Amino acid sequence: MDQYVYAFTEGGRDMAGLLGGKGANLAEMTRLGLPVPLGFTVTTEACRAYLSTGAEPDGLADEIAAHLTALERESGRRLGQADDPLLLSVRSGARFSMPGMMETILDIGLTDDSVRGLAKASGSERFAFDSYRRLIQMFGSTVMGVDSAVFEGALSRLKESRGAPDDLHLDAADLARLVETYKVLIRERTGEPFPQDPAEQLRRSILAVFASWNSERARLYRRRERIADDLGTAINVQRMVFGNLGPDSGSGVAFTRDPATGRPGPYGDYLSNAQGEDVVAGIRNTVPLTELQRLDPPSYARLREHLATLEAHYRDLCDIEFTIERGTLWMLQTRVGKRTAEAAFALAAALADEGIITPDEALARVGGEGLARLMFPRFDASAVGVALANGLPASPGAAVGAAVFDCAEAVRRAAAGESVVLVRQETTPDDLPGMVAAQAVVTSRGGKTSHAAVVARGMGKVCVCGAEQLDVDLNGRRFTASGVTVEEGTVISVDGSTGAVYAGAVPLVDSVVMRYFETGEGSAGLVDAVARAMGHADAVRRMEVRANADTPEDAARARRFGAQGIGLCRTEHMFLGDRRQLVEAMILARTGEDRERALEALLPLQRQDFVGILAAMDGLPVTIRLLDPPLHEFLPDRTELAVRLAAAEAHGDGTSEHDAELLDAVNRMHEENPMLGLRGVRLGLVAPGLVAMQVRAIAEAVVERKRAGGDPRAEIMVPLIDTVEELRLVREEVEQVLAEVSAASGVPVACPVGTMIELPRAALTAGDIAREAEFFSFGTNDLTQTTWGFSRDDVEAAFFSAYLDKGIFKVSPFETIDREGVGRLVEIAVAEGRAARAELKIGVCGEHGGDPESIAFFHAAGLDYVSCSPFRVPVARLEAGRAAL
Ligand code: PEP
Ligand code: MG
Repeated sequence: MDQYVYAFTEGGRDMAGLLGGKGANLAEMTRLGLPVPLGFTVTTEACRAYLSTGAEPDGLADEIAAHLTALERESGRRLGQADDPLLLSVRSGARFSMPGMMETILDIGLTDDSVRGLAKASGSERFAFDSYRRLIQMFGSTVMGVDSAVFEGALSRLKESRGAPDDLHLDAADLARLVETYKVLIRERTGEPFPQDPAEQLRRSILAVFASWNSERARLYRRRERIADDLGTAINVQRMVFGNLGPDSGSGVAFTRDPATGRPGPYGDYLSNAQGEDVVAGIRNTVPLTELQRLDPPSYARLREHLATLEAHYRDLCDIEFTIERGTLWMLQTRVGKRTAEAAFALAAALADEGIITPDEALARVGGEGLARLMFPRFDASAVGVALANGLPASPGAAVGAAVFDCAEAVRRAAAGESVVLVRQETTPDDLPGMVAAQAVVTSRGGKTSHAAVVARGMGKVCVCGAEQLDVDLNGRRFTASGVTVEEGTVISVDGSTGAVYAGAVPLVDSVVMRYFETGEGSAGLVDAVARAMGHADAVRRMEVRANADTPEDAARARRFGAQGIGLCRTEHMFLGDRRQLVEAMILARTGEDRERALEALLPLQRQDFVGILAAMDGLPVTIRLLDPPLHEFLPDRTELAVRLAAAEAHGDGTSEHDAELLDAVNRMHEENPMLGLRGVRLGLVAPGLVAMQVRAIAEAVVERKRAGGDPRAEIMVPLIDTVEELRLVREEVEQVLAEVSAASGVPVACPVGTMIELPRAALTAGDIAREAEFFSFGTNDLTQTTWGFSRDDVEAAFFSAYLDKGIFKVSPFETIDREGVGRLVEIAVAEGRAARAELKIGVCGEHGGDPESIAFFHAAGLDYVSCSPFRVPVARLEAGRAAL
């Protein structure tokens, strides 16, 4: 039969799954010989059994009774004994900390009889009745289901009638009266009396704390923290010790070292004559822990010894809760301390320096998300107010600027030196100049892989998207949120790390870590700690890290950040701006000659783009992807154009032939599902001359760089293929152009040709495709879109929040790779691709390439590299290192 109860002497730190974090650590401290009040832990398994059947599992009551008897024997007192009662606490303790989310019941064992015994033993009647009324209140609400407001109301009325400003002004007689009132209230509300049998109090408390696992707030907390709902909580039953028995008693919290800097030495707060709850609640002012040295030197000395024991044992920063009961020190809790991102790096470096942990362990203790947070300017935490709106945190960092509602205004104001935030319902490629000019981008629609989000992340711009509370009025140049109307030019603040949008300017603090990556400057403190973690990650990682970059500036930045090449150079932005007319001309061309002329005009411009990027990445691979998005994206909006034409007609202006032709083309090319339409390789196969022009531009750029003495390493990547046939056809064309350019220039140009794997069919036929491909790069954005059948542009706003609420998935599959589905396709494609071509180089360039959890998966799947936006490169280096540990 299962064992449901463990004495503290039976458990240990590696049993957190069964005993919960708190129970496992109490057991560990007990085994280390530290002074832990006697107790036992009821397991998470008992909780799961209880919650699934609604009945107390067989044997549990007997086990609890046996452990209680042992505890009574060892402490020399019985639970609720009339003259000097043993009192117990019942506290939840799940595997993962859920602070304050579940119930706690203290002072179990107090009854009408034993309260007098406690008064005698403690020498304080007031203390005894105060403890008793607290028990009745906690038990009444948690176990018996009486609304806690009922008790609060009775307490307030009593204070009023006694003219007492707070609880401390109630005396023993008042509290004894309150106990009677509480008991009456319970009987009235529930029809049963407050139980006077201590064993019944204990048993029912345990079951009620189990049930609190499923309270509304606990469920909500788990969803936000991504803690599984089926873990259940353990319960720790422990002898009460009291820190509120006079000036020689007290409670405190302590850290084994400064949690912010990692500096050794005890650190914490102490509150004399108080229970632990009072310290945490912050109702009275605590004093620094060092004060305890003056107040109670022997306890302070013992505490320091215990802290040293714990840190040496856990080899990490520990935080603890302790209580001193009449000069005797008790350790009530310990755990490996929670820490900020900054502290994690500082601590890892400090512990490694002191030889307490190895460099591998130090690396394991920091993380990419923390690093990302450290790289962006942050709002001064003490200065943020209430947010106007909360959207999706799409690209981290903090920005302050004047709200603007269109691209032209953003550019105009930025050119005049003003800091601006571009606010749109959503963005399109047309908004690019505005996004470049702005400090931040806010959209009211769209998810984390919407255009705004992807582009902003690529540029390292702050972005909040899908902020649905924002009612954006583009014509009126204003938005309304939370009842506040913000007109164009009004300053707002945007937190891309939390998704919050604030009115006014929230003060900022700059990032020293970002400066270090940008300039190599800085060596002390945090920068040194980060640099050491990065150094070790680079030394141990197997995967390379490349960047998604499509301008020379981005490429140069990515290189400074440590990128080992470009994994995805999207060429679509090279078709925007003033080149648009040429693209239009190409699309509208009636004859082959017209088209060729347009392509010829585009060629030198493309070539210059590639020359710049190849120069910035000299000596490193640059994977250039042939044009991917549907061509109509380069034409004007259909509705706008139709309106313009109709207006011109109505005014009798006559329609321009060009506009009419354009509308005709737009209509012809219109698709209901452009994401599944004429894009990617399909475009290259039906638009004659396009592939050849792009490949010629690449090849000529290679020639130019070689002639300049450079070492250009261009690779040509074909997007969105379904079948090897598509790749074969494009490849033939590519090779022909490369041969032509080589022959004409006399400079040999050989570029590896590979493909993106971003459709399920491509993944499933990877063995065939590998025969024509020298490399694969997983486009996990499209692969996720097409595997799930979710539109990456619409889905997050449409129903993802409902899916997350219902627990259908814990995180968006566009953010973290879906291992079972999309991940399985990746694994199949890797295995079959490599079986067909052993030297096949394989990477990933979807947004997942910069996501810590996904990076661990890509490492395990055997990929050669990940590619992500330049600003994620340090994160990816760090995570690739951690994955290799
Ligand atoms: C992808 O689909 O993952 C990808 C990198 O291509 P894009 O985002 O440009 O469609
Ligand atoms: Mg794609």
